Amino acid sequence: MQYLCGTCNIAYIISPLRYKCDCGSPLTLNKDTSYSYQWDDSTPSLWRYRDALPIPADADIVTLGEGITPIVPLYPIENPKHFVKLDYLCPTGSYKDRGASVLLTHLKAMGVDAVVEDSSGNAGAAIAAYSARAGIHCTIYCPDSTSEGKLKQISAYGASLKLVQGNRAATTEAVQLAADNTCYASHNWNPFFLEGTKTLAFEITEQFGDSLPQHIICPVGFGSIYLGLYLGFSELYDAGVIDRVPRLLGVQPATCCPIYNAYRDKTATISRMPQTAQTFAEGITAELPVRSEMLLDAIRFSDGAFATVDNADILAGTRTLAEQGIYVEPTSAVVINGYEKFRHDGVIQDDDVTVSILTGSGLKSNLVGRVEARNPTRVD
Ligand SMILES: [Zn+2]
Repeated sequence: MQYLCGTCNIAYIISPLRYKCDCGSPLTLNKDTSYSYQWDDSTPSLWRYRDALPIPADADIVTLGEGITPIVPLYPIENPKHFVKLDYLCPTGSYKDRGASVLLTHLKAMGVDAVVEDSSGNAGAAIAAYSARAGIHCTIYCPDSTSEGKLKQISAYGASLKLVQGNRAATTEAVQLAADNTCYASHNWNPFFLEGTKTLAFEITEQFGDSLPQHIICPVGFGSIYLGLYLGFSELYDAGVIDRVPRLLGVQPATCCPIYNAYRDKTATISRMPQTAQTFAEGITAELPVRSEMLLDAIRFSDGAFATVDNADILAGTRTLAEQGIYVEPTSAVVINGYEKFRHDGVIQDDDVTVSILTGSGLKSNLVGRVEARNPTRVD
């Protein structure tokens, strides 16, 4: 197994300090995918798919029981067409645990003893938690606007926290300086992270059996779910396990939506879109996704589509879900109005079944707490 650059076709030995090609492009894994697709369904975590993960057989698994999250219908429950997968029920409160578990297992097997990572919050919490579990020292760089709940969580796991003034892009610049001499456990650059998020495709296939949904909706910033779904479903399709692939539908905030722009304008590349204003969807503000070409491949492969939402849409989405007993962060709630837009645009037809991925818990979000406590009644 090697790293491979899709731009210049150069292969590299997999090593802890290598996180991109010398040409600046992201790396993928050149790996054997001729595994058996026989799952160990006695294992109640994503490690039931270990056979499909590029991890040495003798590696110590770094796990907290992540994955195998519920799928529940939204109203009307009698004839549901829209289901949500509660992936925020992973151990640190977000789907990022999938990628962190596989990535930290890989890094521990390589003998890594310290990592750096940059995050708008959830990925930082996941990398910090799984580093703690692996006994690896961890430093997380965050924008100074990150929700306080997420910052407290990262610190609680014992990680060193570096707050960076400015937007998400400024944080990435800061961590890349540190990555010159410390392993960069990046959820965007390191391809082992996507090996973890690809298990979402395996799980949805297992949970729906022979009747795969027509559509899967997810929030998209750098695209670690969207690309994980692409990777997982394409491996299942190539192996003949499934005979069609769900359409992958992405939702972005209107104030930072470079992938949506490329989809709308049918351009051959994704262009940087400077973030024009703050959005409640703090987890998906990527001005230029790292894996742009792979995202366009994923849209073509799955006949995918994109939509955008604004802050009013996001707030309405958090309320719609909370009214049905589901408490998520604003970034997750983009899927609710996204679903309505895909219905309106004719992407989703009347009888189609859709699964939306709910990515992050509301418990660590500043905004949702303020909104939901808006009219308390005092009892003396
Ligand atoms: Zn290259």
